[in-house]
Amino acid sequence: MVWGPTSWQHWNASSARVSEPGQPSRLTVLAGPTAVGKGTVAADIRKHHPEVWISVSATTRRPRPGEIHGRHYWFVSETEFDELIARGDLLEWALVHRSARYGTPRRPVEEALAAGRPALLEIDLQGARQVRASMPDALFVFLAPPSWEELERRLVGRGTESEEERARRLETAFEELEAGNEFDVTIVNTEVHAAGQELVSWITGARIPRI
Ligand code: 5GP
Repeated sequence: MVWGPTSWQHWNASSARVSEPGQPSRLTVLAGPTAVGKGTVAADIRKHHPEVWISVSATTRRPRPGEIHGRHYWFVSETEFDELIARGDLLEWALVHRSARYGTPRRPVEEALAAGRPALLEIDLQGARQVRASMPDALFVFLAPPSWEELERRLVGRGTESEEERARRLETAFEELEAGNEFDVTIVNTEVHAAGQELVSWITGARIPRI
């Protein structure tokens, strides 16, 4: 087993501080319906904005081809996930699409914020609600699809899930779309890079949300 509490200390703590002295850096939570492209937008930010720290979640789902332990997710067993919960190591966690559990390791988030780096969580709606309860000062961003038809097309087009899994994800997505008005900001993901740039402008505080 490669995974362990010390494994997620590998993030690069040497990066420059980005917030002004005396100004706490900000936690941003990105949520939105399944297949809207949250992961792709986060990947775009990872590529173009290394100053933004992006959380790596723990999950009980199996890796997809090409996914790397510690980079895309910490792939853990059900028992290991139970232990993370029991130790209070997760900032939030949820059973997503009624199939696998996903959670945000707490300590790396706290360390990134303490180091002055803006931090981004890309999580589901249930998780976003938990973070809102424990960290109400975070900025909550909803990533919306240009249309329901487009969302359906993206989910089918991804081709990584079985028919049954797709139907389950579509059902979740429909419920999740309704939740947009719980968020501080909505970004429509028409084009990935543009959505990523818009998100970064919120993350770095270049824009102030209408609340
Ligand atoms: P996927 O299996 O496609 O990588 O992700 C499925 C869903 O799990 C996505 O909606 C993603 O946002 C969500 N997710 C990923 N990591 C976390 C996490 O740490 N916590 C919660 N609550 N949801 C997560």
